[in-house]
Amino acid sequence: MGSGIRQTEEGMCSYGKSIAMRPTSIYVHIPFCERHCAYCDFNVYTMKKWGDLPERTVDAICSEIRRAATTLQHDIVVPTIFFGGGTPTFLRADALAQIVQTVRDSFTVENEAEITAEANPATSDAAKFEQMRVDGFNRLSIGVQSFNDSLLRSLDRTHSSHEALAALRAARSVGFSNVSLDLMFRLPGQLMEDWLQSLETAVSLKPEHISLYGLTLEPGTRFERLYAGGRLQLPDEELEAAMYEGAIALLKQLGYHHYEVSNFARPGFESRHNRVYWDNGEYLGFGPGAVSYFAGRRWKVERVPLRYVEKAACGADMVVEDETLPSHQALAESLMVGIRQLDGLNLGRLSARYAINVENYYIDELKQLQQDGLITLNSGVVKLTHRGLLVADTVASAFIRLPSIGAV
Ligand code: SF4
Repeated sequence: MGSGIRQTEEGMCSYGKSIAMRPTSIYVHIPFCERHCAYCDFNVYTMKKWGDLPERTVDAICSEIRRAATTLQHDIVVPTIFFGGGTPTFLRADALAQIVQTVRDSFTVENEAEITAEANPATSDAAKFEQMRVDGFNRLSIGVQSFNDSLLRSLDRTHSSHEALAALRAARSVGFSNVSLDLMFRLPGQLMEDWLQSLETAVSLKPEHISLYGLTLEPGTRFERLYAGGRLQLPDEELEAAMYEGAIALLKQLGYHHYEVSNFARPGFESRHNRVYWDNGEYLGFGPGAVSYFAGRRWKVERVPLRYVEKAACGADMVVEDETLPSHQALAESLMVGIRQLDGLNLGRLSARYAINVENYYIDELKQLQQDGLITLNSGVVKLTHRGLLVADTVASAFIRLPSIGAV
């Protein structure tokens, strides 16, 4: 490698070499939604008439899972499976079960594997959740976003606050004991009182996990167009920071562990699947547009559902983007995602993984970030300060390096 960095087995990425039972998480992308929310730029599709496209997509996902199991040539053990989207609960429970069963038939799934589905309150009910429990799902992530109906309407969400409450009750009634709620702040016209009210309603329901997201204006979304045309007012930076800090204070006071920039959990209920991403670990993605990261390679498959289905039917190559990451880039990405974990990032472990002294390699960046009061570095563990937390993306971007910069 030009940078002098290489990945070691400790980092799970020894190129081309089979390791006994390689832990690899699985992500399944369900790209269907009833309506396109005003802020969303995910790979999602809405249609007036679906025909049999959802069923054919599920069949195609299953055939891709089987194909990966035979072509990857690694003994994979699956610690976590995550269904995201789009809207996984857009599908019937038996379709979700078909995919889970295909994963079980194709790979070794840990007995205690975390199996999560994102759930939209508009397409969730006790009967569906009950069947999902039977089929092995043990965690739900419910997209509440707000308990304020007028804000929900402004986002183009299809559910009401009442339906969000009903979804959580339904989850509890069939025995889900690990439930996460997603909430959004910095919404158009949202006041501090609105935000705290939604948050207080959420915590009164005692979810095991809460994710908080500040609205961002993504290119191509309805909100971005409105904003560009001066027709969308958003809370200013100061209010946005106050909303975030207010939430941190409240959730900490109630005993939630703030373990990642946007995520809070009761101790022991941190998302195992998302930890894999923040540890820059390996995962296989299935479904239209899904990304995989495995054995030093990152690839993305066909994103349009109809083309995905047609390609799967004739066994064509699904991959539309494919790159082998140079180790200096993999290291930079490990820092960029790892720094988001509030318990700190152990540079010694990264040094072992990439066979380089990371503290020396990044000596200038680490020094500058400390001088700016954005991180602390003690005994080889780097952590965001409170100030760093408010600008976490800027801190992360400090670790991007040009390949030509020499190694130590
Ligand atoms: S339901 Fe979720 S995935 Fe679907 S459009 Fe809305 S935000 Fe995007």
